[in-house]
Order: sequence, then C-alpha cells, then structure tokens
Amino acid sequence: MKIAEIHIYSHDLPVKNGPYTIANAEVWALDTTLVKMVADNGLVGWGETCPVGPTYAEAHAAGARAALAQMAEGLLGAEVSPLGLHRRMGGLLNGHNYAKAAIDIAAHDLLGKQFGISVSELLGGAEVDKVPSYYATGVGAPDDIAVLAREKLAEGYLRLQIKVGGRPVEIDIETIRKVWEAIGGSGMRLAADGNRGWTTRDALRVSRECPDIPFVMEQPCDTIEDLQKIRSQVSHPIYMDENATNLNTVITAAGTGLVDGFGMKVTRIGGLQPMRAFRDFCEARNLPHTCDDSWGGDIIAAACTHIGATVRPDLLEGVWLAAPYIEGNYDAQNGIRIEGGHIQVPTGPGLGVVPDETRFGAPVACF
Ligand SMILES: [Mg+2]
Repeated sequence: MKIAEIHIYSHDLPVKNGPYTIANAEVWALDTTLVKMVADNGLVGWGETCPVGPTYAEAHAAGARAALAQMAEGLLGAEVSPLGLHRRMGGLLNGHNYAKAAIDIAAHDLLGKQFGISVSELLGGAEVDKVPSYYATGVGAPDDIAVLAREKLAEGYLRLQIKVGGRPVEIDIETIRKVWEAIGGSGMRLAADGNRGWTTRDALRVSRECPDIPFVMEQPCDTIEDLQKIRSQVSHPIYMDENATNLNTVITAAGTGLVDGFGMKVTRIGGLQPMRAFRDFCEARNLPHTCDDSWGGDIIAAACTHIGATVRPDLLEGVWLAAPYIEGNYDAQNGIRIEGGHIQVPTGPGLGVVPDETRFGAPVACF
C-alpha cells in the first residue's frame, strides 16, 4: 500500500470558557492541522497535530503546515510503513517532529484499516479497554483551584495536575496546600506543573515549604541544566515534559537518573512510532509517564488513547486530552470522550474515529 495523495487542513478549535492559562501563555483558541492520507488502494487515513499556541514549545500551527508542505511531495509513492516513513521524512526535513507526527498517525490509521485491526493492536496490543485520563487545571486562585480539585475527584479522576508559575511563588505554595487539603487521603495523585515557569530558586522554595505533600514536580524550570541543578536538592519527584523533545533526550534523562518520570506528548516526540520506543524505554527503567496530546481534536485524542492502552498500567499516569476544553467531536458517533475520568479505547479499525471532513472546509494544500 503506497501513499497516493496528501491533503492538509487547518481547523479552529475555540477554548470553552477561555482563556486557558499556563505559566507562559493564555490560550483562547487552537489552530489544529489535519492530514488526510489517501492510499493507492483507496483507503483513507487521518493524522493531526496541534501546538498549544506558539509559546508552549518550539512549535506553531503555521510551522506544522509549512513543514508538511515541505515533505509532502517527497512522500508520494512511499510505502505506508511508519518506520520507513520516519526515515524518509528525516531525509526531507531535519527536526519538526510535531509536524511529522501527523504523517505518522495517518500511516498508523491506514495500516490498521488495511489489516482490519486497531492502532493499539498495531502498537503491541491494548492492556485495558479504557484508560485513565487526568485533569489539568489552569493557573488560578488557590480557593478556586481547590474547589475544582474536589469536583474532579468526585467525577472519578485518579490524578490531578495543577498549573503553577508565572506569578509570585507564594500563591503557588498556597494553591498546592489548599488543593492537598481538598484531595489528601482520597488516593488522588497530584502533580504541580510549572510549564518551565519557575526559577530554580522558586522550585527549591516550593519543595522546602511543602515537604509533607507528595506531589510530582512537572517541568518546574526552563532547561535541562535547571533540572540538573535542583535534582539533588528537592525531595519531590521530578518529571520532564517540555524538555523531552526527542528520544535522544529521553534516553539521557532516564539513563542518568535526572528524572522520575515524564509528561509526554505524542506529537512532540514525532508520533506513535517513536512513542512506542519511548514507552518501552520507560518500562525498562520503571518510569511512569503520560501519553498526552498537546491539544487537538478526535484524531490526536484517539492516537493518544491507543498508545496509552498499551502502556503497562501501573506506569501510565494518564492520557490527557483537550476534550473537556473544546466543543464537539469530529466523529459524532465514535468521537473520543472522557467519562468518569476515563476514556474508552476505540474499537474500530485503525484509529476507530472517522472525522466528518466537511467540518474542516477546503484543504489548505493538496499533493
Ligand atoms: Mg506538562
């Protein structure tokens, strides 16, 4: 089965009750990029990538589409094989993993459809038929975030991530305390995600002032050097998120004991083929991790859910989706939804989600 056509779409996803606030950005709407890959046997596969605005990572929506356009001609006629496509994409464009992820996901969707199996089966087989999600709050007032924490605990979420950073660290400490008063003893796990927003001074202070609260410190500071600096001085586990930009970084971070786990975005690392290698490295080192999208709709949500279902369950910190923050689904029937803090793994062939492409309008480019 070979690639016959590639169509690229741009689609707006407004944020419900926006903005969503993180340490370095206010997000009002997401500009997602979809790829429709048509094979020479007439089968169609879908991929998607959606950076959380232009400041979360070294990625932006127009960049995704430019990178896809740069590679598309060179992918026509190629075998629909994720590994081969990654090697071919590497020969067409250096880096830009988040754009390559859309091609990777479309190829997995196509292969699943060709063989009549789900993407999780392609990735080694699902361990579960539903995966836990986790809820991520925005940066907010301590009392408001504590109220939200109680609500999400009652809804069935097993894990809560609170956003911190971008404001006086005293308010972050107060938020962590109030949230723990709300959920401590319930079994709900807690992560405080700085999104690179704390200085090492702030991270050290938070850890020293909250030694009794067992939260994970997720990407507290901006750089790997910052994490190296605080590693031996904090008593809380450190997870790497934004800095884990490729497998090379992950191998070094895991192999040198720099971190205790990862927040991982399927698109940042380049799609499902590198994500399965990441999953296996983490299992070899007993490192927990998430399988997240960085926003986007049903296509990326399905990809994250399929890989999440193949992770050793005690190492899966959850599958984060943008679904609670955006309206509607691309696939009215099989769209991905979070219910009781969990996500049903789609059962249809490929991703198990078939978007209504009339929602996306005309493609912005066709090859
Ligand atoms: Mg994070």
